[in-house]
Amino acid sequence: MSEELILVTGVSGYIASHVAKLLLEDGRRVRGTVRSLSNEAKVEPLKNLVPDAKHPLELVEADLTKEEGWDKAVADCTGILHTASPFPDLMTANVTEEDLVKPAKEGTLIVLKAAAAHASTVKRVVVTSSFAAVHGETNVDAEKNYNEEDWTDAESPDLDAYTKSKVLAEKAAWDFVKELPDDQKFELSVINPVFVLGPPLMESHKTSTSVTYMSQIINRTYPAVPKLMFPICDVRDVAKAHIKALDLPEAADNRHIISTNSFWMKDVALAASKEFRQQGYNVPTCQLPYVVVWVAGLFNKTFKNHLLPRLGKPMKVDNKRMVETLGIEPTALDCTVQDMVYAMVDLGILRKAKKYKQVGSRAEVPPTANGEVEEGKKDDEKEKKEEEGDENKELEPEDKEEKKDAEEIKRDAEKEAPPKEGKEEKSEEQKEEAEAEK
Ligand code: NDP
Repeated sequence: MSEELILVTGVSGYIASHVAKLLLEDGRRVRGTVRSLSNEAKVEPLKNLVPDAKHPLELVEADLTKEEGWDKAVADCTGILHTASPFPDLMTANVTEEDLVKPAKEGTLIVLKAAAAHASTVKRVVVTSSFAAVHGETNVDAEKNYNEEDWTDAESPDLDAYTKSKVLAEKAAWDFVKELPDDQKFELSVINPVFVLGPPLMESHKTSTSVTYMSQIINRTYPAVPKLMFPICDVRDVAKAHIKALDLPEAADNRHIISTNSFWMKDVALAASKEFRQQGYNVPTCQLPYVVVWVAGLFNKTFKNHLLPRLGKPMKVDNKRMVETLGIEPTALDCTVQDMVYAMVDLGILRKAKKYKQVGSRAEVPPTANGEVEEGKKDDEKEKKEEEGDENKELEPEDKEEKKDAEEIKRDAEKEAPPKEGKEEKSEEQKEEAEAEK
């Protein structure tokens, strides 16, 4: 098996580089596609992904918006892991549906057509879809445990461009494979990761959406976190899932949600804070009041349409197939977040504070089935108590800054009139805020 050739599309990506690393560490032959071989920032680090790999990583050029290059990329491969797809940060990027749907949907079909043309060697294709194709609507049913049977309604008016691109791409993939004549058939398996965090492998990943999100937290782009819950998974679990989906017979013809558990954004901030606060990183852990997000929504459509309706709403996601079929035990959130921040500092994506320790200094935390950290719970409680006590303590200069920021934002926001329809939720939110502040 180790001599079989596996294609990883978009191999320089945040997730794909982990996938390639695992394959190479396992002694497998890997070919990766990149959009440009002359992009040194993306290509050079790939050559050192696994310095003592049995087979060096082979690289070829291919772009999802063009057919050329894909036949050569797929030739002689037995398996394809199709992870490439544009994934912009929708809070900041100015992208249209067209920018994303073409490479995602048409690009996936280009890759699958090339696989069908090489069906004499290609046995299975794993497509990296997203949880966005399982439930991408803004409306969340708090009673429901979302699973692989669920599909985002591609016609729903409240989908953002990225979500639409992912659901259309995955649907197109299943439809395409269903219609294949016998002599062009190959198996399809799909991975649906929820929001992915965990250590990046290359400095160029600083622009990946997942890494940008963590940079914003650690760099205090916003002085507080909104009360938003979303499911999170570890990039290393996502990479393992791709390989299991390629190898395990029972993974064929199935979708697989990859999720550790659902967490409040504050949980992510606390996981970072408890490790890095003492190392000189003043991670904001206080809750952004509803009214602030509402005001931000006046200026930012993504805030208004996609963030505001989800504020304060819990969400459950089923990771049964990940655990039982793929046999992957989710990594604990603390490990995911803390390893990510260490890697980002080490790669120069985040500044190195004077008190910064070295990579690998994080205390090991054992994972549990739902990603909670047993040992860390004590730390969480301690952290919460410390926060409560903070109000009465003499504040450090950085903390004073944080408190001032939060108070200023709140004051500015309260000058604006809140919307009538948000009245009920706002007052509840304010009660909670007041309680937390006590
Ligand atoms: P990255 O942005 O790090 O990687 C995306 C990859 O896709 C890059 O290698 C990029 O190539 C490639 N790509 C983008 N457009 C094209 C194109 N037109 N032609 C060829 N390649 C292209 O994102 P992630 O690693 O986070 O995401 C990888 C996949 O996982 C995506 O399909 C994404 O939708 C999915 N996903 C990600 C989640 C997350 O939280 N990160 C959650 C759920 C799903 P280049 O380097 O040249 O730009």
